[in-house]
Amino acid sequence: MTVRGKGALTSLRLAGEIRAMAIHISQNSTEPAAEPRQVQTSMLRGAAQACPACGTGKLYSSYLKVNDTCPSCAEELHHQRADDAPPYFTMLIVGHIVVALVLVVEDLFAPALWVHAALWAPMILGMSLWLLPRIKGALIGLQWAWRMHGFSGVDDEVFGLDVAGKQPEV
Ligand SMILES: [Zn+2]
Repeated sequence: MTVRGKGALTSLRLAGEIRAMAIHISQNSTEPAAEPRQVQTSMLRGAAQACPACGTGKLYSSYLKVNDTCPSCAEELHHQRADDAPPYFTMLIVGHIVVALVLVVEDLFAPALWVHAALWAPMILGMSLWLLPRIKGALIGLQWAWRMHGFSGVDDEVFGLDVAGKQPEV
């Protein structure tokens, strides 16, 4: 394995290689294979702001604060690293919907600018606040299903290199 630099791409590639190694190790060990995790089910549970493992425990302790462990099944949820992906996807979705609506309304009614502001500002705010925890939950569900970032039971740190970019303690 060669590491040519730090950054998101390196982290992603390393995460993929770690996952491949974990699968390779699990396939070649005498221990029973890990239980398969359904990506769609996990993402839907996360989007419903529930634990991706059991679907009943609450994912968040407040608006976006993820519980360290599931209050229902005690699954460790602190391994999640949704980071800035939820706001990215939220802006992507809200932007595409609102910009399309702005163009349609402008084309049909050509209202005054203040009407546009009065219409779209609350819509953007409302949609973003509604979508953000659901998208974050779905991404956490995906990370859990793919056993990323310690959800496999093995931390990201491997060969003395932490993919988060922190120097490991000696
Ligand atoms: Zn749970």
